[in-house]
Formats: sequence, C-alpha cells, structure tokens
Amino acid sequence: MDVLHTQTTAESHQSQQRTCENCGEYVTKQFVRVFGANDGSVYGCMNCLTGRDLREGAGTQPSD
Ligand SMILES: [Zn+2]
Repeated sequence: MDVLHTQTTAESHQSQQRTCENCGEYVTKQFVRVFGANDGSVYGCMNCLTGRDLREGAGTQPSD
C-alpha cells in the first residue's frame, strides 16, 4: 500500500480545487480536509448537502 505516499504527493502537488464526488461542484482543499474522507474525497458539499449534514459526517462517505 502506498496510500500515504500518494496522498502526500497529491497534497503538495494539488493545491488547487477538488470536486464534490456527489454533484461535481468545486470545493476547496480545506473544505475536503474538514468535511471529507481521509483519502481526500468528499461526498457532499454546500451545493448538495446542508451544513448540518456535513457536520454530521455526510461528506465522508458515499450516500446510498
Ligand atoms: Zn456536492
């Protein structure tokens, strides 16, 4: 597993924006860090979820 290495590389390389895995809206790296999963993905944003949902962890895993 080279997850840690990949993540470190991606973080230092990609300082720009990421997208919400749920709706495709652009989100900031900081937003992903706060509300997203540990792998750098975020499954919800202020465009498709409420702030309450995000604080409850809705952005950390795919909704199904
Ligand atoms: Zn979204």
